[in-house]
Amino acid sequence: MDLEDILLMMPGPVPVAPRVLRAMSKPMINHRSAEFAEIYTDCREILSNVFQTDNDIFLLSGSGTAGMEAAVGSLVGNGDKVIAIENGKFGERFKDIAALYADVVPAVFEWGLPIDLEVIKEKLEEGAKAITLVHNETSTGILNPAAEIGKLARKHDALFIMDGVTSIGGDNVRVDEWGVDIAVVGSQKCLAAPPGLSIVSVSEKALEAMKGITKRPYYNDLLAYKKSGDKPRPETPYTPAIPLFYALQEALHIVKEEGMDARIKRHRILSEAVRAAIAELNIEMFPQLNEYSHYSNTVSAMKAPAGIDSEDIKNDMKKQGVIIAGGQERLKSKIFRIGCMGNVTARDVLSTIQQLEIVLNKRGYIDSLGAGTEAAIRVIDRA
Ligand code: PLP
Repeated sequence: MDLEDILLMMPGPVPVAPRVLRAMSKPMINHRSAEFAEIYTDCREILSNVFQTDNDIFLLSGSGTAGMEAAVGSLVGNGDKVIAIENGKFGERFKDIAALYADVVPAVFEWGLPIDLEVIKEKLEEGAKAITLVHNETSTGILNPAAEIGKLARKHDALFIMDGVTSIGGDNVRVDEWGVDIAVVGSQKCLAAPPGLSIVSVSEKALEAMKGITKRPYYNDLLAYKKSGDKPRPETPYTPAIPLFYALQEALHIVKEEGMDARIKRHRILSEAVRAAIAELNIEMFPQLNEYSHYSNTVSAMKAPAGIDSEDIKNDMKKQGVIIAGGQERLKSKIFRIGCMGNVTARDVLSTIQQLEIVLNKRGYIDSLGAGTEAAIRVIDRA
């Protein structure tokens, strides 16, 4: 199948607008020039609004994981205690990265279960320099309580590092209000740019704390980013991925033209439409929620229907031209995930649900077509 005919509905990378693709084909420029400084400054200004922060913002050449490692590696060192919250694969990744740089106090919950705030409170009471959280746990489709964790972190004087890789740019994120000292997003998720850049916001307090760390990463040292970013002509410490900066700038203009409120609303409605269709098809959502946790508004994770391997659903969907995601690691074959991020439209969601119904019908799980699609349409029309 022609790549242009494929509908990418996985939780990143997401489809990129033609004007973003075109932006990447512009000629190269000197990365230590007024032209580059202008692009960098424009991106940072728009991102301040996306992150809802007055903190410094840096653009790193490297995917989301580079941003996660930059955050932890620059901020903590030997002997520091870091509470690492895990209730999915990316929480586990943050824990593993933190363990390379500091002493980890794990706060592990079963993948797909909500975080117990009482447990976090108890661990914070014992003292820690920092705490890591994945806001939107892409592997399980759960939205974790960032505002509450931020409040607890502040109360116990711990620095709050938040992976907002699949929430920032698509869902409500308030870095300053929630007291997030370092927030990270990846370019290929809700911002709908190509993969390869991560963006981090860093508070004054975190920058101060970094000065005491002697073994910070070399390439992804956030203090080096601060020094270069503060120049009269802001730049990055090393040669940035210039075509990706062109693309991100264009993608951010699309975000600005839509407006963050409208963007968040669109993500919410479309994810709700997916959930309505799923309920109508008698499929169970995977995450278990408590009063502080919610279904993700950028990726929906569903249990495979009885007797069906979720890898088969994913593969059947691919044959129909729609790329969705399966479960990762221990969740492989058990769940499937539909991404709803970036510039996703109602038409994209409805096509995906229609194809899902066809796949489920062929596998004998549903007898007729249309009920799921109609449920999704009802949500979209109501909005
Ligand atoms: N954190 C979350 C929540 C993610 O969903 C992902 C990727 O899917 C990452 C981190 C890692 O990002 P990347 O693959 O861009 O390195």
